[in-house]
Amino acid sequence: MRYLILSDIHSNLEALTAVLADAGDERIDEVICLGDFVGYGANPAECVDMIRSLPSVEAVLGNHDAAVIDVTQRELFNPVARAGIIHSEAKLQESHRKYLNELPLVLDSKPGFVAVHASPYKPEAWVYVVEPLEAADAFHAMTSPLAFIGHTHFPAVYTNDGLARSFSPVDDIVVDEKQKTMINVGSVGQPRDGDPRAAYVIYDDDAKSVRIRRVDYDIDAAAAKILEAGLPQMLAERLYRGY
Ligand code: ZN
Repeated sequence: MRYLILSDIHSNLEALTAVLADAGDERIDEVICLGDFVGYGANPAECVDMIRSLPSVEAVLGNHDAAVIDVTQRELFNPVARAGIIHSEAKLQESHRKYLNELPLVLDSKPGFVAVHASPYKPEAWVYVVEPLEAADAFHAMTSPLAFIGHTHFPAVYTNDGLARSFSPVDDIVVDEKQKTMINVGSVGQPRDGDPRAAYVIYDDDAKSVRIRRVDYDIDAAAAKILEAGLPQMLAERLYRGY
């Protein structure tokens, strides 16, 4: 099986469209979305529609998705993030909310790997896995040798021998199932690793290989729509910086 794994779309329809077009040349059997469909950008409903209409797709809930359907989840959000949630709330229809509301926190039905937005450790607490210490908690909780995560918008690879490093298109990975590996697939719609291009991952579970791809998209269009929607200016500007 070949999986396209993506995360943190954040209502960026231009980035999502570019990712799916780029992956069109790959032989993809199934798409897995690690959550945060909404928030920050201008087109939350269109992004939910685009993902849920794919022929073979499974998804998990992200913290921005949760904040749209449950107001108590917004408490920890800063004003800029909260503006994105309020915009998403206004744009989503009942069917979108129902779709998000039914998403699981963890996808553990796939052979050999688990998929979760933040961390396999207390997924409902939306822990940011950045340092080896946070990764160690996650490895402890993992029942599979491999996990795919998002949430930080920073593509990275962690192994349970304490290694943590960024993940770029020049680093193809072959997963060693004798140890535990956690891969952050980066963000489609708001990269924060200094590379403004949209990120997604292809996982081939026969070859055990994982590749990350970065895709140019129409940032001008996405940024213009953010400003048109009356969202905070920094949400438009950061798309150009990828940070
Ligand atoms: Zn996110």
